[in-house]
Amino acid sequence: MAGKKKEVQLQTTITTQKQWDEMLLTKGVVVIDVYQAWCGPCKAVRSLFRKLQNDFSEDDVLHFAVAEADSIPTLQPFRNTCEPAFLFCANGKIIAIVRGVNAPLISKKITELVQEEREIAAGRKERTKVDELVFLEVKSSEESVEENIPEATVRYSVGIIKPDDVLEGRVEEIKQKIRGAGFHIEAAEEKMLTEEQIRVFYAQKKDQPDFEDFVQFMLSGPCHILAITKEEASGAIPHWKELDEPSESVPDGPERLKEAESILNICDVQDSIEDASRQLAFFFPNFDAKKADHKVERTLALIRPCLLKERRNSIIQRIKDDGFEIAMQKEIMLTEEQTREFYKEHVDQDYFPVLLEQMTSGPTLVLALTRENAVARWRDLLGPKTVEEAKMENPESLRAVYAVENVPISQLHGSSTPHEAQKELQFFFPQEHTLALIKPDAAREHKDEIMQRVKDAGFTISKIKEQALTHEMAAQFYKDHEGKPFFEQLVNYMTEGPSVVMVLTKENAVEEWRNLMGPTDPEVAKENFPESIRAQFAQDILSNAVHGSSTQEHALKSIECVFGELDID
Ligand code: UDP
Ligand code: MG
Repeated sequence: MAGKKKEVQLQTTITTQKQWDEMLLTKGVVVIDVYQAWCGPCKAVRSLFRKLQNDFSEDDVLHFAVAEADSIPTLQPFRNTCEPAFLFCANGKIIAIVRGVNAPLISKKITELVQEEREIAAGRKERTKVDELVFLEVKSSEESVEENIPEATVRYSVGIIKPDDVLEGRVEEIKQKIRGAGFHIEAAEEKMLTEEQIRVFYAQKKDQPDFEDFVQFMLSGPCHILAITKEEASGAIPHWKELDEPSESVPDGPERLKEAESILNICDVQDSIEDASRQLAFFFPNFDAKKADHKVERTLALIRPCLLKERRNSIIQRIKDDGFEIAMQKEIMLTEEQTREFYKEHVDQDYFPVLLEQMTSGPTLVLALTRENAVARWRDLLGPKTVEEAKMENPESLRAVYAVENVPISQLHGSSTPHEAQKELQFFFPQEHTLALIKPDAAREHKDEIMQRVKDAGFTISKIKEQALTHEMAAQFYKDHEGKPFFEQLVNYMTEGPSVVMVLTKENAVEEWRNLMGPTDPEVAKENFPESIRAQFAQDILSNAVHGSSTQEHALKSIECVFGELDID
């Protein structure tokens, strides 16, 4: 672009089919930001891309492009959606997609693909045959914007848990195994199959000598039918083969797979749309594959003060048992002002005063929960809105199970839509900068390992330099400790040699970095947080490897002190 310093362009611009086809000839990995003309390419990911390009700069293996969906026929299915989509092209094939600006996932995918390409280039690995993504257009006469997303990344399978396993009460165990292998169970139903259903579903087995006995066996009791999906975006796709233990322990299906032992029926929407939908319709007449949303999603959960005080461990365990991951957490004492802001749509309701009183009565635990379809699933688990309704209509729901005696307000909150979730997450976990530092002795001995930990935790390193702190800087960092017995020693230690000083950027960065550092005293860290940086690299309570700002305010001051004006994009 004119006027600017000469800088190699990060992303190639693709606006025609011809340019798209040319891009496919690029060697290595190309990460393509598919955008709509009306909103333009995604700016938020550029610093991540720049960083990755730096990390992988040696062999010209990684390239970036932006492609305008409106003017490229191949990208037609991406038109009219508002969510950013990133496609990953390796060796000329589009093999993966990530929807939304999911920086950790994008970063992980890129790293995997680059490493794989390098292995192949070095002759250490053979190129495996990969399925190319096919972008299907959703054919629906009154398509809404939502439905116009390509579905090709979701593959359905139908699995059957046979009568003997059902009888022996092994259904949950088997489902757990399936989930453990990275699949999602989208629907499950206990059913007596009809003879006709069995014959159709097991058509491939019909020539086997014992088929008639098998049909009788299948008719002997109820089966569990599962609609199972796997997601392209989740990286390596596990195969049913991995579940291929003794066949009694896994659901059964016709042998469409070449592997003789494979016992599950893979109905892959990519090459067999009819089969998948036929079988789904066959067993789940009300299952709407289009509506079922399989993206890994985030939602906001609040555990209100009373529940947190009384049953903290129990509720956290329950959340994990239900397949959610806690991506971020924060315990905060909400002020009246924050409560009013967060619940601004509720301030006029009769229940607001009680809610306000509850919310400000003690610390609240704020969680960012992730899993596929997290928003809807968390809400489903919570149950009806009020404790009263929950107890009456769905006593199994979390709001009923975790009601606190004599407290009329339900103790759990969940975002109501993905859009709300995004807003609420931003409210509690805004993008932040923090100042992080690898202290002089650790900078000499463990720099690379610690930097790796920073990257793995998904921080963006917005600024970095190696520099010995001046007395003044050290005194600024540790202003709160002035006068304490260890202050002099601390300042001397911090100025003894070069430190690695960084601005780290992430949602909730201040707290996230402190969590990753671990407790000040490495003995405590080893005891309670063995994975933390201090547990692994600190020598003692003074030489404890890393520093991190303790509040946002401190962070901003320290960043200014070390890097001058805060001009981070
Ligand atoms: N420190 C020390 N002795 C102490 C407490 C702290 O030498 O009893 C040093 C240690 O290097 C620590 C720094 O002072 O990292 C700042 O202390 P603070 O309590 O702020 O810990 P941090 O925020 O680094 O975890
Ligand atoms: Mg401190």
